[in-house]
Amino acid sequence: MTQNDNQQAEWHAQAPVEEQTAHPRPPSREEGKKDFVPYLISWNLTQRCNLRCKHCYINASTAMPGELSTDEALRVLDGIAEVGPGALLILSGGEPLLRPDLDVLVAGDVDDALVSATDRIIADFCKEFGDVETAMPIVKHQFTKAGVDVKEPTKDALLRALHALAEIEHGYKSDERVSENLTRRSGWVRKAN
Ligand code: SF4
Repeated sequence: MTQNDNQQAEWHAQAPVEEQTAHPRPPSREEGKKDFVPYLISWNLTQRCNLRCKHCYINASTAMPGELSTDEALRVLDGIAEVGPGALLILSGGEPLLRPDLDVLVAGDVDDALVSATDRIIADFCKEFGDVETAMPIVKHQFTKAGVDVKEPTKDALLRALHALAEIEHGYKSDERVSENLTRRSGWVRKAN
C-alpha cells in the first residue's frame, strides 16, 4: 500500500458517509421507521370501476382476484389507525362505491359526521384536481384561512372553505362543474350532525 493509498483509506474511515458518495445514502429501515409519519394514505380499495377512462393508471374494470374481504379490510384499517392516527385516509379505486361493504368500512373508521364530511371534501377536491400532491397544500391553506380545524370542524368554517375551494376550481373547471361540486360538498356538511 502506498502512502497515498494510506491517506485515502484514512479519509474514508473518517469522512461521513454522505461525503464518501456522490449521493447521500437512503435511511436504513430502522431510521426510516423512526422518522416516518404518514400524513396522507391513499388506498385503492378495489380495481372494479364502471368507467373506462383512457388515462386510467390501473386499467380498472373488474375486481382483482384476491381483493380483501370486509374483515381483512377492517384489519388493514386498524393497522392504518395504529401507524398513522392523524393521517388523512383517502379511499380510492377503481370506484370504491362499487364495494358493497363501503358503508361498513367507513363506519368502522370514522365516528364523527363533520370530521367524515371534512375528509370527503378533501378527498373530493383532490380527486377533482387530479393531483393529490399538489391539491393537498391548496386544501390545507384554504382550510386554515377559513378557520377549519380538521379534528373539530364547524359547519360555518367548512362552508367558508367550500366557497374558497370553489373559487379555485373556477380557474380550471366549467361553471357548471364548480356549481355541482359546491352543491355536493355543501350537502355533506349540512347533513352532518
Ligand atoms: S379508476 Fe378512475 S381513472 Fe380508472 S377507469 Fe375508473 S374512474 Fe377512470
